[in-house]
Amino acid sequence: MKQTKLLPIYDPERDRPALLEAGRLLREGGLVAIPTETVYGLAANALDPEAVAGIFEAKGRPQDNPLIVHIHEMSMMEDLVTGIPEAAHRLAERFWPGPLTMILPKTNRIPMATSGGLETVAIRMPSNAVARAIIEAAGVPLAAPSANRSGSPSPTTWQHCVDDLEGRVDAIVQSDPCAVGVESTVITLCGEVPRLLRPGAVTLEQLRETLGQVEMDRGVLEQLSPDARVSSPGMKYKHYAPKAEVTLVRGTGEAFVRYVQQQQPCGLWAICFEEDAGLTVPNRCYGAREDHLTQANRIFDLLREMDKQGAKKVCIHCPDTDGVGLAVYNRLIRSAAFHVVDAT
Ligand code: AMP
Ligand code: MG
Repeated sequence: MKQTKLLPIYDPERDRPALLEAGRLLREGGLVAIPTETVYGLAANALDPEAVAGIFEAKGRPQDNPLIVHIHEMSMMEDLVTGIPEAAHRLAERFWPGPLTMILPKTNRIPMATSGGLETVAIRMPSNAVARAIIEAAGVPLAAPSANRSGSPSPTTWQHCVDDLEGRVDAIVQSDPCAVGVESTVITLCGEVPRLLRPGAVTLEQLRETLGQVEMDRGVLEQLSPDARVSSPGMKYKHYAPKAEVTLVRGTGEAFVRYVQQQQPCGLWAICFEEDAGLTVPNRCYGAREDHLTQANRIFDLLREMDKQGAKKVCIHCPDTDGVGLAVYNRLIRSAAFHVVDAT
């Protein structure tokens, strides 16, 4: 067991002593949970294989699932990748700092532990001011997957990090809840055509506007078998799952409500849209049907709440898959272990 420090950093200027402490811990090979605009990340020095090994251990994460490397300025990227193609410049110009991760061929500065044994590396420049100040204070690029135990819903508040990682990491930064609430969009620029590996707040539509042709990996919408050779190893694992059995229910508001009301009521909960009227089982709303940003913002906290409530079965009204809805859908089909039903 480690003694986990809580470091409050809401304003990098005002909370400078805690900021410098987070930077020092990271520089010295420690593990620190940090806020970002997507979800809280479990950070370590991306260039130090031993520090990175600590991330996998604390999370219980499979070793072949590569980590995203976080930078705070473009110059930090130069010796991490073999070159920066034109497409990467265009994406960086429009979406960095922000919730977009690019996969590029790596240099030897990135250890295999960080890249999960791949010759490529995932890079992101976050926009959250505290995250940026922590990277700068550490003075090294930070590998940071989501700061949860592997398999559970991602953390969007510092309390979620405490629930999952207290005693396993050196420090947890106390800061505001995450503005976006789902992980970054991941795009690979290593093939002939750019390919979306994981949807996020930067949408497929926006990527196509910027780059022209962008393919969508089949793992975005489908289940991949554990032994499949996939371009994004993270996509094949069980993910985002509460203890309750989750069913994703497609259909109109009336059809959804009818379906839920027909289920065995013992331990049953529903996660619905604001428009869904007439539910008598316990429920939470995750936003209006068209409001994908609010859905993204609330979904992981609500999945965690289902466990706290002792839910046995959760029926979730399936989001539409346009815009940021694709990211919400991608997380929810995984939390439901791909159990989707059509309600009529
Ligand atoms: P997380 O750390 O939980 O945000 O997950 C990072 C995601 O990025 C996972 O789905 C990884 O599989 C993916 N990823 C990271 N590095 C690479 C890479 N070099 N090539 C392909 N996918 C990657
Ligand atoms: Mg994760």
